[in-house]
Amino acid sequence: MRAVNAGLDPDAIARAADLLARARYAVVLAGAGMSKESGIPTFRGEGGLWTRFGEPPMNQYESFATDPRRWWQRRLEEAQQPNEFGSALEAARPNPGHVALAELEALGVVRHLITQNVDDLHRQAGQRSITEIHGNRHWMRCTSCGARWPRETIAIDAERLPPLCVEANCRGVVKSDTVMFGEPIPFDALRTCELETARTDLFLTIGTSAVVYPAAQYPIDAWRRGVPLIEVNPEETPLSPIATAVIRAASGAALPRLVEEVRVRRAGGNGSAR
Ligand SMILES: [Zn+2]
Repeated sequence: MRAVNAGLDPDAIARAADLLARARYAVVLAGAGMSKESGIPTFRGEGGLWTRFGEPPMNQYESFATDPRRWWQRRLEEAQQPNEFGSALEAARPNPGHVALAELEALGVVRHLITQNVDDLHRQAGQRSITEIHGNRHWMRCTSCGARWPRETIAIDAERLPPLCVEANCRGVVKSDTVMFGEPIPFDALRTCELETARTDLFLTIGTSAVVYPAAQYPIDAWRRGVPLIEVNPEETPLSPIATAVIRAASGAALPRLVEEVRVRRAGGNGSAR
């Protein structure tokens, strides 16, 4: 649609595309703005679920850890009565921004994607190298060994709750992969984010206000090493002043354009050689 592209600043797109075309190891931090474009309500901010209905209890994880059986019973009950967030998640599909990021990975430009989104849309779009620091709503995780599986592969027997880990010699309690309030983010996920941030030569933040830690730290760590930042966000964020290229647009409009421009440059157009 033409109207969507009308707001894209050609200079900002060109600057970002030049950086991307030269990058050898771009890392992305993708936030809730991308999910919102696929129709998933945000938690915080105007119209956000928590703003309207209140934040969930801060001791969520403690309740789970104290009585996982009770937690699972409640979860199975709740599954019978769909809520607004659940329905939106089930209906959501990857948007052109998700698809474009997967294309940048296939082109060898984007090497890793870090996200706080739990909606699985990056995977559905074809992204392969991902760290979901808040987990994935469609996955389960063992609280002992940290193994993760798509939820449909774990048999849940209402008579034998909680489900237990199927890895050899583990038998740890299984929970939803989504990180609860009060639950530590899995160590492996944080370690991967740190390693990827240490390797990157170009950092992109997309649809995130970059204020929630630990994710907010990664672009700053990269920038302190002299790595250029690209920001794609309709709103100003705390990272805007330090970004080398800022695209003030929705990711679904900006990213497909960037992919086109990167393809042109990689094909031998302006400024691709290093
Ligand atoms: Zn286990």
